This record gives sequence, structure tokens and C-alpha cells, in this order.
Amino acid sequence: MTSEAPKQIRPSTESPVALDALERLSAGELLRFAFDRFGDRAVIGTSFQHGGLVLIDPAREAELPIRVFTIDTLRLHPETYQHITAVERHFDVRVEKVTPDPAAVSRMTAQHGEFLFFDSPDKCLHCCKIRKDRPNEGFLGNVDCWVTGLRRDQSEERAQTPRARMTAKYGRPLLKLSPLAGWSDEEVKRYVRARESPVNELYSRGYSSIGCAICTTPVLPWEQPRAGRWRWEHQGQTKECGLHLERGDGI
Ligand code: SF4
Repeated sequence: MTSEAPKQIRPSTESPVALDALERLSAGELLRFAFDRFGDRAVIGTSFQHGGLVLIDPAREAELPIRVFTIDTLRLHPETYQHITAVERHFDVRVEKVTPDPAAVSRMTAQHGEFLFFDSPDKCLHCCKIRKDRPNEGFLGNVDCWVTGLRRDQSEERAQTPRARMTAKYGRPLLKLSPLAGWSDEEVKRYVRARESPVNELYSRGYSSIGCAICTTPVLPWEQPRAGRWRWEHQGQTKECGLHLERGDGI
């Protein structure tokens, strides 16, 4: 991708009309808007599931040099690391890998052990906070627009996901776009197949939602896509790690 001078226009928290208008844009138009308005202060965040490909592909096709980042918890499946490399090559894009603070990880594992997530839901959330949420917060502190692959059909928690919202999750206004909010799982898969994008090998082994190794497992055909997350602790509980949870008002 070519580089272009950044446009540093900060989003306003008082733009409900603009948000309404964004709700009506197509996925490609939302990506175009994000880059035109915010330049390199707009980023696509992806965990390298199918949805991320549906965001990267049209951006690449339209020659939008929009930045792409991923949170590398340092506990991803080997197949996911291979997939990231394949995506970088296929789309000729550099993926910014955001890793947790090594000192914070060392403190956590020294105190609670490497596999603390098995102990309790609280420790599970603590691990996600150290490995995912804080690195995400640190990275997003330097941008104004966060483009995600969230979809409403992924879980009950995500059923009301808007395509555009202002979030103050990390203590400052940030425009959060979810261009695929209204897409179905089948639509996403069809797009990826039609475009012959590289796919994470884990999908062929029954995974439908891919996160950290151990904490993510394959799902059965009748289960929700995120049912394979934290199976041992979270039966009947939320399947969110906190990355997308707003304070008290859903995703
Ligand atoms: Fe830790 Fe599991 Fe969360 Fe990954 S998904 S950050 S290993 S608790």
C-alpha cells in the first residue's frame, strides 16, 4: 500500500446526524469515509477471522492505505500466526502487531500462573485485560477511528451492535465503526470464498470464532459462533473478553 500524509481531524462527540448517516453507508463506503476523514488516525482492528478479511480486501481493492492492527496476546494458535503472514503477503499490507506489556505479563504469571484463566472467571478477565484490553487501549489512544469486524449474529451480546457509534470506553471519544454489523456469517464466508482470500486453517477444523489457543475451541453445528470460547468457565455467561464491552451499555 502507498503512504499518504495523515489527516488529523478529530471526531466530535456531538454528531448524531453524522452517525445516522454512517449507518446507511455500505461497508466499502464506511471504509472510504474512515480513511478520507481520519487518514492514518483510522485503523482496522482484526483478530484474523473471516471478518477481518472482508475489511482488508475492499480497502486494498480501493487502494486505501488504511492501517491494520491486531492484538497479539502471545497466546495465539500457530495457525493464526501463519495466517497473518499469509494475509500480509496476499494483500501486500503490513499488519501492526500490538503485544502486551512484558512486565505486566510476567507479574501476572508469577502471581497466578501461566494458566490462570482456568481458575475463575475473574482471573480469566484479568488475563484478557493484561493481554488484550490494555494493549488495545494503548494502541487506540493514538487514533480517532477504530474499524472492527463485529457482527450482530455472532452472539447475544453483539445483537445490537451499531454500525457507527462514538465510544468513550477508554476515557476519550473514539469513532467505532462496524461495517459488517448487519452481515450474516454466510455472507462473510461467501465473500471470502469469492475473493479467494487466504483463510485461517482452524476454520477447516470446526472453529468458528478464533482467539487465543486453549481458550478457543471448535463449535458444533448448532452452537453460536462464540460458543467455543472459555467453555470450562463461561457456560451461560458472557462470551466477551471485555475488548468490546462498553461500561454498562453493551458492545
Ligand atoms: Fe488470556 Fe485466554 Fe483471554 Fe487469551 S483469551 S487473554 S489466554 S484469558
